Amino acid sequence: MLRRVSYILLSAAPQLIRFKKKLRLSYNFLNPFVKPSEKLRLADGSVVLIIGGGPAGSFFAINLLRKAKSSGIKIEVIIVEKKKVMNIQELNLNECQIGECNYCAGGLSAKVCEALKKLGLILPAKVIMDKVFIINIFADWKTISLDVLKEMNSVYRGSRPKGRTDSIYNFDSFLSESSVKEGAKIITSEVTGLEYSDDGRVVVSFRGNNKTIKSDFVAFAGGVNGFLGNRFYTGEKPLSYLQEMIPGFKPPRVRRTLIFELDTGENDKLMYKISGELYFILHGSHTLKLEMISIIPKGKYITVVLIGPAIDSSTNKDNLRIINEFMNLPHIKKLLPRRAEIKNLCVCSPNIVTGTAKNPYGDRIAVVGDMFTANLYKDGIGSAYEISAMLAEVAITRGIDKRSLRKGYRSVIRKYNINNTLGKLVFLFIRIFFRNSFFSRIIYQAVITERKTKTRENRRLEKILWNTASGEDIYKNIILSMYHPLAIWAIFSGGLLVTLRNYMTELIFGLRWGNFSRNTTGVGKEVFEINSKVIKEEFSGNLGEGSLDFERMYSIRMNAPGEKIFRELGKFGDKDRKYFKPRFIDVTRISGEANQPGCIIRYNIFPRQLSFSLRLLKSIPGEHLSYEIMNGFGRGGILFFKIEAFKKGTMVINDENLLSIYVGFNFPKNLFKYLFPAYIHDVLWNFSLCQLKEVVEN
Ligand SMILES: Cc1cc2nc3c(=O)[nH]c(=O)nc-3n(C[C@H](O)[C@H](O)[C@H](O)COP(=O)(O)OP(=O)(O)OC[C@H]3O[C@@H](n4cnc5c(N)ncnc54)[C@H](O)[C@@H]3O)c2cc1C
Repeated sequence: MLRRVSYILLSAAPQLIRFKKKLRLSYNFLNPFVKPSEKLRLADGSVVLIIGGGPAGSFFAINLLRKAKSSGIKIEVIIVEKKKVMNIQELNLNECQIGECNYCAGGLSAKVCEALKKLGLILPAKVIMDKVFIINIFADWKTISLDVLKEMNSVYRGSRPKGRTDSIYNFDSFLSESSVKEGAKIITSEVTGLEYSDDGRVVVSFRGNNKTIKSDFVAFAGGVNGFLGNRFYTGEKPLSYLQEMIPGFKPPRVRRTLIFELDTGENDKLMYKISGELYFILHGSHTLKLEMISIIPKGKYITVVLIGPAIDSSTNKDNLRIINEFMNLPHIKKLLPRRAEIKNLCVCSPNIVTGTAKNPYGDRIAVVGDMFTANLYKDGIGSAYEISAMLAEVAITRGIDKRSLRKGYRSVIRKYNINNTLGKLVFLFIRIFFRNSFFSRIIYQAVITERKTKTRENRRLEKILWNTASGEDIYKNIILSMYHPLAIWAIFSGGLLVTLRNYMTELIFGLRWGNFSRNTTGVGKEVFEINSKVIKEEFSGNLGEGSLDFERMYSIRMNAPGEKIFRELGKFGDKDRKYFKPRFIDVTRISGEANQPGCIIRYNIFPRQLSFSLRLLKSIPGEHLSYEIMNGFGRGGILFFKIEAFKKGTMVINDENLLSIYVGFNFPKNLFKYLFPAYIHDVLWNFSLCQLKEVVEN
C-alpha cells in the first residue's frame, strides 16, 4: 500500500511541482522528509562533499573550512575528483593522462592573484609558466599595448600536452594540495549519482564500486566539460542527477571553443618574442569568422583559444583545418612564429560558459563554479573563486536549506545575469570598432592622446580597455564608463579630431602607409617627464635660453640588435635611406661621417625660413646619438636617440630593443613654434619610426 502511494506521488511529482509553484507552496515532494520551513544548518560532525577538484571545488573547500573554523564548527570536507592523477606533492611523475586536462588557457587574472594572496596561498614558482607584463589588444589600425602593473600569471591546469617531460605539478594540484592542508580529504573517483536518503541527507555514489557516502551538504563543482562540445544532454550524467535532486535546475548556456597549444621548440628568440605578453584579437577573416582570439604565453609554449561562429558550427574533424587557416591569417602571421617553426602539441574543443544556471540550489545541495556561471569570456577562475567564497559564507552563516541558499545566491545570480548580457554588448562594441580601420584609428589615437597628456590614474580609455581585457571590473561598470560624457569627449577630441588632423598632415607630407606594419610610438606622460628631466640636465648647455619652447618624445620596439639600429640611424643624412623622407623636407649630411661626432646634418625645409642644422655631439655605438640644434629655425635644442634593451618587467629581451627619440627646441621667436607645430613632428616621426623598424627587422 505504502509503495503504491509513494509510486503515485512520485509519478505525479512534476505536475505537483508545477502546481506547488503556482500556489507558491514550499513543500518538497522529492525530498518529503524536509519540512518546508525547516532551517538546515551545518553542525559539528557534518559531512560536506564537493564534486570536482577544479578551482571552484578547491576554493569552496578552503573557504568553507576556514569559515567553519572561525565559527567554531567542526566539519568534514571531502572532495571527489574524477581525474586519476592529481599530481599532488609530485608523488606521481608519470606523463599526464590524456583527457585529464582542465580545458583552460590558464590565464590568472590580477583579481585571482590578489585572491590567492588574500587566502595566504603563495603560488609556487614551478606552477607559474609565465608572468604577464603586457596585454596587447589587437586592432585593425594599430595594436594597443597596456602595461600590466599588477601580478598576472599563466599556469597549466590539469594535464599538459602529451610528451612534456618537465614537472606536471599544476595550478589545480596546488589548489587541491592547499585544500588538503586546510583539512579536506580527496577521493579520486567519479560521482555517478545523488539521491536523498530517508533522513533527508544526500547519498553520493561513485563509478565502479558500490560504495556510497552520506553527506549533509553537496556542492557540485564539476564544471561544464563532462562532455566536450557545445551541448548538455538531458538524461546524461551529471545533468540527470542534478535535475533529479534540483527540479527546475537548468545548466548555463555554453559555447564551443577551440583551444590548442604550440611549441616554439628550442628557438629562444621566438620564445622571448611571445613571452610575457597576452594578445586579445577580436576578428578572424571572412572565411574564418572569429570573435575572440586569446594568445597566452607559457614559456616556450603558446596556448591559443578561438571563439566565434567558425568554431560554433565546427566539429572535431575541422579542428586541424581551422588551426592551419588561423595560422595563415595575415594579422596572426605578424604575431606568431611561422607555422614551419612551431609544432602543434594538442587540441580540443571544450565548452565555455556564456550564461547563468537556473535554480542552482536545493535542500542540502548547491551548484558552484562553471556549472553555475562564469564571467563572460574573462576570468572564469576569478568567478569560481567569487561564487565559491559566497557559497561558503551562505552555507555557514545562513544555512543549507533551499530557502537560505536561494537568499544567499540571489544577488550573485542577478549580478552574473546582467553582467554577461552587458558583456556581450561590450564585446560587440569593441569588435565593431577594432576591426574597422577608420574607427580603430580613432580609438587608438584617443588612447594615445590621453596617454601622452594625462597621468595613469586619470586615463579613462586605458582603464576601460584594461578592465575589458583583464576581466578586472564587471561589464556594467565598463559600459557605464564607455558612455561617460568625458570618455565620449576624449574619443571625439583626442581621437576623431586628432585623427583627421594627422590624416591631413600625412597627405600634405606625402606619407602613405605601405606594406609595413603600423606601431605605437606615443610615450606616456610619466615616462616622458622622467626622460625629459634627465636629458635636459645632461644637455643644459645646448638648449638655448630659457625653458624649451617645444618638447616631444617617441619610442618604438625593434626586434633587432642595437648595433644594427645604430648603423641604420647613421643613414639619417644619406640620400638612399629608407625612412624619414617626407615631402618638403630634405635631410642631408653636409659634413663629416655617419655617426661620427662633429658631423653636420642639414634640414632643408620648405619654406626655407624653417630650415636648420644639427651637429652630432656624442655617439656611443649601439646606445645613443645626441645632436644639437645649431642655427636657422631652431635656436638651441637637442635631438637625442637612445637605444636600450627592451624589458618586460625585469626580463631583458635578447635582441629586442627600444629606440627612443627626444626632440627639444627653442625658437628665435615664439611665432615660429606655430609654423611647425608639435603634431607635425608626431606624424612625421611616427611614420618614419615605423619605416625604420621595418628596415632594421628585415
Ligand atoms: C578554452 C577555455 C579557456 C579558458 N581560459 C581561461 C583563462 O585563461 N582564465 C580563466 O580564468 N578562465 C578561463 N576559462 C574558464 C575556466 O576554465 C573556468 O571558468 C574554470 O575552470 C571553472 O572552474 P570549475 O572548478 O567550475 O570547473 P573545472 O575547472 O571544469 O573543474 C571541474 C572539475 O570537476 C571534475 N569533475 C567533473 N565531473 C566530475 C564528477 N562527476 N566526479 C568527480 N569529479 C568531476 C573535473 O575533472 C574537473 O577537475 C577558460 C575556459 C575555456 C573553455
